[in-house]
Amino acid sequence: MSYQVLARKWRPQKFEDVLGQELVTRTLQNAIRSGRVAHAFLFSGVRGVGKTTTARILAKALNCEKGPTPEPCGVCVSCNEIAAGNSIDVLEIDAASNRGIDNIRELRENVRYLTARDRFKIFIIDEAHMLSNDAFNALLKTLEEPPPHVKFILATTEHHKIPPTITSRCQQFDFKAIPFSLILSRLQSIAIEEGVEVSDYALRSMVSTAQGSMRDAQSLLDQTIAFCGKRISDADARALLGVADETLVVGLLDAVINKDRKKIVELMEQAQDGGIDAQNLCRRVIAHIRNLLVFRATAGEEKLFHLSDFEKEQTARQSSHFSEVDLIRFYDLLNRTENELRWNSHPFIHLEMALVKTVELARLPELEKIIDEFRKGGESDASRITPARAVTSSPPPSRKIPVNAPESKSAVVSDDVVRLPPFSERLLELAQKEALPLFSNLQHAQNISCWDGKVKIVFSSSDKIYHSLLSGADARQQLGNLCAKIVGTLPEIEIVVQDISVAPSKRNPVDDPKVKFFVEEFPGKIVVDPNIEDP
Ligand SMILES: [Zn+2]
Repeated sequence: MSYQVLARKWRPQKFEDVLGQELVTRTLQNAIRSGRVAHAFLFSGVRGVGKTTTARILAKALNCEKGPTPEPCGVCVSCNEIAAGNSIDVLEIDAASNRGIDNIRELRENVRYLTARDRFKIFIIDEAHMLSNDAFNALLKTLEEPPPHVKFILATTEHHKIPPTITSRCQQFDFKAIPFSLILSRLQSIAIEEGVEVSDYALRSMVSTAQGSMRDAQSLLDQTIAFCGKRISDADARALLGVADETLVVGLLDAVINKDRKKIVELMEQAQDGGIDAQNLCRRVIAHIRNLLVFRATAGEEKLFHLSDFEKEQTARQSSHFSEVDLIRFYDLLNRTENELRWNSHPFIHLEMALVKTVELARLPELEKIIDEFRKGGESDASRITPARAVTSSPPPSRKIPVNAPESKSAVVSDDVVRLPPFSERLLELAQKEALPLFSNLQHAQNISCWDGKVKIVFSSSDKIYHSLLSGADARQQLGNLCAKIVGTLPEIEIVVQDISVAPSKRNPVDDPKVKFFVEEFPGKIVVDPNIEDP
């Protein structure tokens, strides 16, 4: 007997076996039960999530000798032929192939004739978005006046490419990506049935590489079995899938915690030598940062994770070293990096640089602590202040804001007093609590001030992307509401791009020890507001 690929061998034959699409299968079953079956369906969703499988099960349900029934028998001639793909009354057309177009022409002829044997003539059109305009027009004519014995099931991965004239005549179903845990348990049971011994790590790697596609996950298992036989180890999975080893991801984050740039470079070299894909590694790091963030936000509720024991342990340990703000910053930076990697000719170097940058981001100390120290009346010498850096044994306070300015004025530095910015601080704090996306943009502001009922937010020209992000109507309204919570009324909001220049001063503030301390701790620049008189 010839070898049958796992995805085909284990293809679900009943509605209840289709994983992760309960809403779709239940609706279809109810429609059959109540005798209200549409004459055309459009199944859309990413590849490998059960569209064609569900189409075939629906065809069986409609043409089963015992049907139409929500539970096709699976043993009658119709059911068997449909499952094998050779039923005379169920035609599967692959619109992506050249024959697809001819098939549609034939289809127009074909629909006029009655069925050969079964109740309905059913056309399953796969990759329907690939049909030409001619083919769509031909199809449309049939969809407009469908003969009662004809049913259409269109499947597509690109819903937006189907003309509205077609979609409006179909009952539409959206197939979701299948959750990690469902694919994992399915793969586990297939491995057991097939007598294959696969390490837990290897299975998890396959599932995460498949990104919600059951078929891809099963193909990966197929490939690994072809290479490794019936025993698949962690190392096999790493070698074959090119996936970033979780110890590598954890190691990289440890290097960020320890501000060890050298270690980052070493680990990245190791990864490159090991044949790991830079984009895959970047995605893994992003996923790990997301886990750290969720772990902090939910106080470690495990049900949110599909992690191995090792990953759980490391997530718990590492999460205490970062503030949520740090993690959001990392997440932003690496997400941008992941997009850039696609077009970058040196992806490893680009990713390495991004990781080194996260070290700088994590270096930003907790401003509140420093502010508190300064507010104590300047009795403390700057050198005595030990900023709590990223490495702390307990979770640090949730906020570390690098950007600040006083009400209406830029940071004022005098001999003993540093007057600090209540409004910008409060706005950021509120945004972090109530509007995280807004916060992630606001924190890039160079200056936020509120004066005379007017809020002014300044971005430097290198950050003008955040200016655009905040300038949309929705963002502005949200921003207005937040400001109103602080100042009591809806203020006028001005968001500008402006590079604030350093003005000459009688006394150079750079010589001030406290300023020196700030400059050393914050990778930023000193800005002196020319409107402020030197005290
Ligand atoms: Zn049957």
